Amino acid sequence: MALLEGKTGLIFGVANHRSYAWHIAKALVAHGADCAFAAHPDEKLMQRAREAVDQLDLSRPWIEPCDAGRDEDLDAVFAAYARDHARLDFVVHSIAFADREWLSPGTFVGTPRQSYLQAIDISAYTLVAMADRSREQMAAGGGGSILAMTYYGSEKVVPGYNVMGVAKAALEASSRYLAADLGPDNIRVNTISGGPLRTLAASGIAGFRQILTHNAERAPLRRNVEGQDVGGVATFLVSDLSSGITGENIYVDCGVNTIGL
Ligand code: NAD
Repeated sequence: MALLEGKTGLIFGVANHRSYAWHIAKALVAHGADCAFAAHPDEKLMQRAREAVDQLDLSRPWIEPCDAGRDEDLDAVFAAYARDHARLDFVVHSIAFADREWLSPGTFVGTPRQSYLQAIDISAYTLVAMADRSREQMAAGGGGSILAMTYYGSEKVVPGYNVMGVAKAALEASSRYLAADLGPDNIRVNTISGGPLRTLAASGIAGFRQILTHNAERAPLRRNVEGQDVGGVATFLVSDLSSGITGENIYVDCGVNTIGL
C-alpha cells in the first residue's frame, strides 16, 4: 500500500510547474495522496495554475480560486472542499507576497506600513486563517497535518529578503502556536525551511542569483535544493511516519543553515 493512500488534502500556492507547491503535489500524488488545489483568482494566474495541475495527470483535477487575503474567499474554498471531499488530512500553505519595491538590499528601513502589513497578512496570517478553517474537518477524521514553506531569512539577515524575513519569522512562530492549540485534536503543524529555488516569487528578490551561487558553494552538499528534495520531506510530514512531530521547522537546504563561516 502506498504511503499516503487514503489521504486527501488541499494545496495552496501552485503558480506553475516551478512552484514549491507543485513539487510538493507531485511527490504527494506519487505516494498515493489525493490532492485538491486553490490558486489566486487572477485570470492569468488561475490559467497557469490549471495548466500546472494538468501536468500532474490527476484523474479528477479539483482547483478553485482563492485570494487568501480575503476571508470570504477562504470560507468559500474550504466550504467547497468539504462539500466535495469526505476527509481533510493535510493542508499545504505555500504562498507568500511582498511588494517587490522593498525587496532589494538596503531598503528595509524604508518599508511603508502598508507594505509591511500586507507581507505579514498574505505570508503569515493566512496560515492561521487556513488552520482555523481546517480544524473541524480534520478533527472529524481523527487529525491531520498542516505544513507551510518558510526560509532561513526569518532568522538571519539575507540581503534583499527584508520584510519577507519578518513575515517568515511570524509564520514560523504562528506554526508553533497553532501546533499547541491544535495538538489535542491530533492536528500537527510544521514548517519546511526550503533552500533557494528559481520560482516566480523568488524572481522578485533582487540578488537572488547571488543567493543561489553562495549557497551552492557553501552548502555541505555543494548544490542547491531541487523541488523533489522538499517534496520528499513534505511527503514525510503529511504521512503517519511523522506522527510525533509538530511545531517544528525542518531545513531542506542542503545543509547551508549549519555553516557559520
Ligand atoms: P511561487 O511564485 O511559485 O508561489 C507563490 C504562490 O503564492 C503563487 O502561487 C501565488 O499565486 C501565491 N499567492 C501570493 N499571494 C496570494 C494570495 N493573496 N492568495 C493566494 N495565493 C497567493 O513561488 P515559490 O517560491 O514556490 O513560493 C512558495 C512558498 O515557498 C512561499 O511561501 C515562499 O516564500 C517559500 N519559499 C520559497 C523559496 C524559494 O527560493 N523559491 C525558498 C524558501 C521558501
